[in-house]
Amino acid sequence: MKRKQVVQSQQDINTKEREQGMRKTLISRFVKYWMVLLACLTITPAHAASPEFTDEADVVVIGAGSSGLSATMTLLQGGVKKIIVLEQNPFPGGTSNVAEGVLGVESRMQRDRYLGPPMLTKDMVFKREMNYTHWKGNARLMRKFINMSGATINWLQDMGVPFEEVSQTTFDGVRTWHIVHEHGKGLIKVLFGKAKQSPNVKIMMETPATRLIANENNDVVGVAAKGKKGEIRINVNRHAILTHFRV
Ligand SMILES: Cc1cc2nc3c(=O)[nH]c(=O)nc-3n(C[C@H](O)[C@H](O)[C@H](O)COP(=O)(O)OP(=O)(O)OC[C@H]3O[C@@H](n4cnc5c(N)ncnc54)[C@H](O)[C@@H]3O)c2cc1C
Repeated sequence: MKRKQVVQSQQDINTKEREQGMRKTLISRFVKYWMVLLACLTITPAHAASPEFTDEADVVVIGAGSSGLSATMTLLQGGVKKIIVLEQNPFPGGTSNVAEGVLGVESRMQRDRYLGPPMLTKDMVFKREMNYTHWKGNARLMRKFINMSGATINWLQDMGVPFEEVSQTTFDGVRTWHIVHEHGKGLIKVLFGKAKQSPNVKIMMETPATRLIANENNDVVGVAAKGKKGEIRINVNRHAILTHFRV
């Protein structure tokens, strides 16, 4: 009889533990379900927001630093008709304002002034840079960057960026560093001025982008931003370009 009672109480305990276990699982599933639901809400499907103001653009560029403004100018030159640039600060330029010069190899300016010998080539600089980093850097990316660097300097110069001199950076000793008059600020002044002049570009200062809006296929279809009076939502027809996007 005693043994029966022990077995019975053991069974009761087992049942209780099972029930408790099931309750725990159910609670944790419930919590997880709500966590997933909340996460889905912050990803924000296209229909969810009810913004105070809706705008539309072919491309939205987030950040009016040297990357964002260069992208804007490239889009303009490619014939894009409506670009919106969002900048969180009351001034353009971000970190680019404190840079001094831009690396370039085989630029017009470099060729004109420093023909050599030895003639400075893309191959030479590529090898120097990779040796400097013990070939730990991304060689393909470095190659692409160096290959395009001279043409990029020419492109900036053609737009009116005032380069003063091709100087040496401290570590490689070769003349690749294209110094801009007034440094980074000088470069931003030109790019920002050009973008502002264009009727195809709308620049919204003090308007930080807060999130991307995706449709059911996870394609980005819009950008939400914090406007002065509330949320702004911009429908993007083609692309959103993020440069140093921080929220
Ligand atoms: C002291 C110093 C000196 C340097 N010197 C050189 C140099 O001589 N040569 C060189 O090649 N590099 C130099 N660099 C590095 C160079 O400055 C950066 O690599 C370059 O500025 C990056 O440009 P960017 O456009 O990507 O970013 P940024 O110039 O920082 O622009 C990003 C912009 O995005 C905006 N932004 C961010 N989040 C949001 C948001 N959510 N919504 C809206 N806007 C947003 C920011 O306000 C900013 O205006 C230097 C860096 C430092 C700190």
